[in-house]
Amino acid sequence: MKNNGRLFVISGPSGVGKGTICKQLVERNKNISVSVSATTRKPRTEDAEGVTYYFKTEAEFKQMIDDGKFLEWANYNGNYYGTPGDAVDERLSKGLDIILEIEAQGALNVMKKRPDAVSIFVVPPDTETLYQRLKNRGSESPEEIEERLKAAEWELSQKENYDYIVVNDCLDEAIAKIENIIKDEKENI
Ligand code: ADP
Ligand code: 5GP
Repeated sequence: MKNNGRLFVISGPSGVGKGTICKQLVERNKNISVSVSATTRKPRTEDAEGVTYYFKTEAEFKQMIDDGKFLEWANYNGNYYGTPGDAVDERLSKGLDIILEIEAQGALNVMKKRPDAVSIFVVPPDTETLYQRLKNRGSESPEEIEERLKAAEWELSQKENYDYIVVNDCLDEAIAKIENIIKDEKENI
């Protein structure tokens, strides 16, 4: 049998800690990487082209949609975000695992397209904590935070569609749980 890598989807509302968790997962597990998405959102100071995202104009992004470049894409609060499909398939065909760190519309689409994907939904201990994390991160305006919390309501309502739900209260515990899920899923191919 061909030794393909595994596709993991890590989703959850903005500010829940997906980025923080994925960064540490990659640092601790050399065999895993996180897919680099394309987006039309404006870069933040900590963003780097080709590292955190491929930054695109709306026209460029729409051309990529028309050219069938995306495994999935979504419009999230007025900006487009999408996972370039070729890079994912290339990694998987080399037997390497890959994580998609994406919002819920895209995550649900990947689950339909790739039933073999393992989906993990990260939830906050409560909504107030989510708000505080977004506020403390300081990367969005109060209006944008409000929009993200609105999107979070719908995203949280979709949690039962995922294979696993992990609460990110204590960061180390959440990471350990996800590492165990990854290990179990790899043993059960
Ligand atoms: P996301 O990628 O889901 O939008 P981030 O990883 O950017 O979220 O996390 C949002 C903020 O919450 C960051 O400032 C991060 O340091 C903080 N954070 C993440 N996980 C925890 C945790 N378990 N406890 C406290 N703060 C956390
Ligand atoms: P941010 O603007 O904070 O970088 O990302 C906003 C949301 O878009 C986050 O929930 C993030 O996980 C999600 N996201 C990032 N890349 C993609 C992608 O390629 N596809 C989808 N559907 N969502 C993405």
